Amino acid sequence: MIFLAGTILTAFTAIYVLMPLFKEPKGNLDVELLAETELDRLLNRKAVIYSNLKDLEFEYKMGRLGDADFHRLEGGFKAEAAEILAKLDQLGVEQHLDDGIEQAIAVRRTKLTSGQKAVQKTCSSCGAEVIPGKQFCADCGHRL
Ligand SMILES: [Zn+2]
Repeated sequence: MIFLAGTILTAFTAIYVLMPLFKEPKGNLDVELLAETELDRLLNRKAVIYSNLKDLEFEYKMGRLGDADFHRLEGGFKAEAAEILAKLDQLGVEQHLDDGIEQAIAVRRTKLTSGQKAVQKTCSSCGAEVIPGKQFCADCGHRL
């Protein structure tokens, strides 16, 4: 008996552990991961450019860079920084889009739930909500 229980427990554990491997990967997850990677990449790039700008200014102040070189390099870094900030803004907009999708899902979910409630019967005797599939009212025992 204990052996049987152990076998069943092992089987359930194995199923529970292995189940995620056989599930279809969620499409949303990939998109989220990609978006996160893109965001990380942009943030890293921004940090690098800001650090480069600091270095550049330091070199310039130390007199190791000429005016023309400094302004040319500074212009390049600032242009790239602006580009990255614009892209980060776009990602921010996408974040808002995600919020919109979440709201739409919430609204849809509410509609589905209220739809289920409309289908759910009430007891003709006492008016209590009836659990679907039950033959008798849980409150008063009236046959449904
Ligand atoms: Zn009832």
